[in-house]
Amino acid sequence: MDIQSNLKEIRAQLPPQVSLVAVSKFHPNEAILTAYETGQRIFGESKEQELSKKQASLPADIQWHFIGHLQTNKVKYIAPYIAMIHAVDSYKLLAEIDKQAAKCNRVIPCLLEIHIAEEESKYGFSFEACREMLETTPWKELTHVCISGVMGMATNTDDESQITNEFESLHRFFTELKATYFKDCDTFKEISMGMSHDYPLAVQAGSTMVRVGSKIFGDRVY
Ligand SMILES: *Cc1c(COP(=O)(O)O)cnc(C)c1O
Repeated sequence: MDIQSNLKEIRAQLPPQVSLVAVSKFHPNEAILTAYETGQRIFGESKEQELSKKQASLPADIQWHFIGHLQTNKVKYIAPYIAMIHAVDSYKLLAEIDKQAAKCNRVIPCLLEIHIAEEESKYGFSFEACREMLETTPWKELTHVCISGVMGMATNTDDESQITNEFESLHRFFTELKATYFKDCDTFKEISMGMSHDYPLAVQAGSTMVRVGSKIFGDRVY
């Protein structure tokens, strides 16, 4: 199977309201261009240096999504062009994105990363920590970021019911945040969940954005 047929197969499985982020990290420009030729415009990367190099040399109408853990000192390099930042896991990072976006006269769409997996991870808000951040910080004053939804990763397991439970918990949390803090905010609408091995389950649980890498581009060579 090649990149173009992989994309075709995946797109055929996605309902029209679900966007596909083609995760191109560790794959060369040629692979990205092959996907681009089929009409793919949203690509996901997780390393600032790799992304900035690719952004400078690939077509300008690509929408680059930053999907990995982002260090605050790297924000300034991607702020001029990044289309969405998926993994905002602290108020400090959100405030830095706001500051750098202001310098570029931009409003950057951001997703709050929520820790839903059973696995230990340093990254992502717990439900409680996320509520607390939204209650106690002046996030509403940050006019150069647009909190557009939530993002999460399920446990890496073959237990489909566990994966589904985790995705459903993120959907419920999205609904809670929407009702509590973003009622009148039409742009708070994204649930970024689902990767190569679990995106069909994520879509069933209400994903609006799947992030698929190896199922499109093959295995990554690190
Ligand atoms: C790498 C990565 C993906 C894509 O993973 P695949 O298993 O290759 O589909 C999705 N989301 C995040 C946050 C990633 O880092």
